[in-house]
Amino acid sequence: MADVVIIGAGVTGMSIAYHLAKLGCRDVVVLERDYVGSGSTEKCAGGIRQQFSTEANVRLSVESVRFFERFEDETGHAADFRQNGYLILATGEEDLVTLRRAVRAQQGLGVDTRLLTPEEIAELVPGLNLEDVLAASFCPTDGYADPYSVVSGFASAAKRLGVKVREGVEVTGVLLRDSAVRGVLTTEGRLEAPVVVNAAGPFAGRVARMVGLDLPIRPSRRHIFITEPVFRRESPLGGLNRADLPMVIDFHSGFWFRREGLCLIFGMRNPDEPEGVSTEVDWGFLADTLGDVACHRVPCLSDIGITRAQAGLHADTPDYMAVLGEAPETRGLYLACGFSGHGFMHSPAVGRIMAELVLGKATVVAELEPFRVDRFQHGVGQAESAFI
Ligand SMILES: Cc1cc2nc3c(=O)[nH]c(=O)nc-3n(C[C@H](O)[C@H](O)[C@H](O)COP(=O)(O)OP(=O)(O)OC[C@H]3O[C@@H](n4cnc5c(N)ncnc54)[C@H](O)[C@@H]3O)c2cc1C
Repeated sequence: MADVVIIGAGVTGMSIAYHLAKLGCRDVVVLERDYVGSGSTEKCAGGIRQQFSTEANVRLSVESVRFFERFEDETGHAADFRQNGYLILATGEEDLVTLRRAVRAQQGLGVDTRLLTPEEIAELVPGLNLEDVLAASFCPTDGYADPYSVVSGFASAAKRLGVKVREGVEVTGVLLRDSAVRGVLTTEGRLEAPVVVNAAGPFAGRVARMVGLDLPIRPSRRHIFITEPVFRRESPLGGLNRADLPMVIDFHSGFWFRREGLCLIFGMRNPDEPEGVSTEVDWGFLADTLGDVACHRVPCLSDIGITRAQAGLHADTPDYMAVLGEAPETRGLYLACGFSGHGFMHSPAVGRIMAELVLGKATVVAELEPFRVDRFQHGVGQAESAFI
């Protein structure tokens, strides 16, 4: 018996567990079929940005950035949060209009984002090919952190507060009585609980189907390619060879790159990627599509070796907004999923909000409105345009 069972020990599940325990709910059990952080979390690029188009996502980011800034004080673990900024490049008129609108909205919410001209971009990040770039938005307090350190930090802080994390235990069913949750069935038997949180990442749709709920969450593969060590004294990177290199993104294609240790890492969404759960690396994607886009924007990449790659899963919703809240027809089942490529950066705020919701704090209901699951049924809500 537990007060709360959380399915999934990724960054979302562990942040919710930590926040629940911090609010005094100690009888929390996290069930993870593999090991802590083994899902999308350990495959993620660690990017943390406040540059979103919807107010709801900007608010989640602003709260989360403040949390990442004090992560070590909160959890006792360093997150390796580097606030080198995010530079988002606009190449088409339509993207520029969207970016301008987003910058105004972010500034209205107190975020220090600004628009840069191509000359200002060249000064900030020398070494980019800007021939097709019209402008960019830049926010200096964005950045990136180490995903494994963050999930481990949440996990050890949660355990210190009494949370139990059971690895190697898969949830195979959700127990119901009179449309209310009674617990879960697992590969190690039943566990009763009046509250179950579905934080199963790209597999949240599968878990929801255990109670007959159809969630429009599309798992799809994303890659990260890693170069040979290039951040060194005699570097082929030229002006990009600096410790404070921002994360750079092409708004239109979703191509991005940043520094990771001595290497450059980069990726891009594949518009032809079918829905699926494969995490095999597709080197053909680099050879056929991504390589050209990457070398166009970062010409020096054509002389640099790519030594490794990894692939993980996004959990995309049709409007690129997460699904947060109680399931409509199953009392006690809570959903924290569909993060559409921004689940790592939003994990601190999502953890706080979900914990308060589970513990019955009415104040979070308004915050959750844009993320309600029934928006798909009623066709309402604002879509996020700043997705990668
Ligand atoms: C290449 C790539 C780059 C990314 N870059 C960024 C980025 O820069 N910034 C950002 O914010 N996000 C990024 N993301 C997205 C980010 O990784 C996810 O949004 C985030 O990790 C989601 O965390 P989660 O805890 O919800 O899911 P996961 O980390 O997937 O955790 C879910 C857990 O549930 C477990 N599970 C599933 N089913 C069951 C079951 N039935 N029983 C028990 N356990 C179960 C899984 O094993 C898994 O460990 C990226 C993703 C990828 C793939």
